[in-house]
Amino acid sequence: MDRKHFLKSLLILPFAGTAMKINELNKTSELFNNSEPMPVLFLGHGSPMNAIEENEFVTGFRNIGKTIPKPNAILCVSAHWETRGTFVTAMEKPMTIHDFGGFPKALFDVQYPAPGSPELAKESKSLIKKTEVGLDDKWGLDHGAWSVIKHLYPNADVPVIQLSLDYYQTPKYHYELAKELSSLRKKGVLIIGSGNMVHNLRMVAWDKLDSDFGFDWAIEANEKMKKFILSNDHQALINFKSQGKAFELAIPTPEHFLPLLYALALKEEHEKVSLFNDKAVAGSLTMTSVKIDSQ
Ligand code: ZN
Repeated sequence: MDRKHFLKSLLILPFAGTAMKINELNKTSELFNNSEPMPVLFLGHGSPMNAIEENEFVTGFRNIGKTIPKPNAILCVSAHWETRGTFVTAMEKPMTIHDFGGFPKALFDVQYPAPGSPELAKESKSLIKKTEVGLDDKWGLDHGAWSVIKHLYPNADVPVIQLSLDYYQTPKYHYELAKELSSLRKKGVLIIGSGNMVHNLRMVAWDKLDSDFGFDWAIEANEKMKKFILSNDHQALINFKSQGKAFELAIPTPEHFLPLLYALALKEEHEKVSLFNDKAVAGSLTMTSVKIDSQ
């Protein structure tokens, strides 16, 4: 670099730096502009095939997407991202993760190119005081997130981040951690828990995959869960391990149930709860989904 260019670069660089900062500030304020509290969703995602099939559940996801204001960004707690410690995805462009096996190529071909939001990742990290949240640059969007979000926002034009589930923590811990995110709702952020209320893959009725059949214990657990949800008895759901045999079969491992606790924890007292996609499938799963909002 000759002297003239060197001097020129000295003149330009500080301005370039300032311009970048102002741009970033604009981006942040746009993302986090104040809004009426966004609804909160728990989505029963079921089979990954729901990503590419046309069925009543997909219609349910599409319909719910139409009833809520378009969010500035989405924070998704998926059953399929369990970690030691808590992380948020913080990359600009999260990849579509095909975290399953034995499905048709068409499902592996699906890409959901929604942008990430490093700004929302940092904001979420700063809001959570319960633990040190790590900023992740390796995960992306797993099928718990993209297989359902793609029906709400098919154009992939809403930034999405994921928050992981720390598998060393108790249900109560998850419920309390979720509450620390509540202010995001007033920043246009749609918080989605994605799992299944009843989810026991070992008990799947393989001969009834396409029917809305549910075993007696699955129906019993689902009905009790709905009762607890609609009567605001979150404590009973946090204590799911003490709810008897039907719950034991419905929740053999907690990862598909915990995202429901994240959604419920964000419910304000005056808010309403509505259920949709409330059906059992394949004997041992329920697709029952929850919308929380003030309307
Ligand atoms: Zn799943």
